[in-house]
Amino acid sequence: MQADTYRHRGLRRTLVEELRRKGIRDERVLTAIGTVPRHLFFEAAFQPHAYQDKAFPIGEGQTISQPYTVAYQTELLQVRPGERVLEIGTGSGYQCCVLLELTTQVFSIEYNPVLFERTARRLAALHRPAHLFCGDGSLGLPQHAPFDKILVTAGSPALPRPLLRQLRVGGSLVIPVGDEQTQRMVRVVRESEEEFSRQVLEEFRFVPLLGQAGWNK
Ligand code: SAM
Repeated sequence: MQADTYRHRGLRRTLVEELRRKGIRDERVLTAIGTVPRHLFFEAAFQPHAYQDKAFPIGEGQTISQPYTVAYQTELLQVRPGERVLEIGTGSGYQCCVLLELTTQVFSIEYNPVLFERTARRLAALHRPAHLFCGDGSLGLPQHAPFDKILVTAGSPALPRPLLRQLRVGGSLVIPVGDEQTQRMVRVVRESEEEFSRQVLEEFRFVPLLGQAGWNK
């Protein structure tokens, strides 16, 4: 495991100031980004770029999201200590560790078995106690539902019904929805057993959400 040096911490402070300038306001989210050593989630070749506000490849055709996107989605999620949070798309595990700075109850699912194995080893080495699963996250984790918050970090063609059903009343889902090129961030709140409200927000570009309630590939 690589070290987390004063230099890395300085780079994180600069990144946090950049995110603040770009409109991220939630101090808890900014503190989380300033705490999690993003370079430890990168392949060696990309490590020098870890504190740029950019997405980078993590292997298997997948990416670690841009820090602005991580901060934006986390801010929208409004995680409170003790809440149960489900992330779809573990990827490198970085977003999962940002969520762990906000609550102890983080569940995360990854579809790709190679990424799942690699990231499970990484989070164990970092002593980050997330509940990790390998499988089709578009179906959620019914055996662990309900969740207070659900975060999808891949672009979906529609709101996956299984995820809506696994939200507790009062809980919220943050998910990019659109075609395979661009998506709009959507925040859905479960107002009652049968009622959901939704806000459609900024445009983003994510890798596709695969699986039965995703692009079905
Ligand atoms: N949150 C990740 C991070 O911090 O590195 C970045 C996620 S990356 C943009 C999207 C991830 O979603 C990929 O790792 C991809 O394999 C995964 N994915 C796609 N479809 C999925 C599905 N149905 N269930 C679970 N994971 C899925």
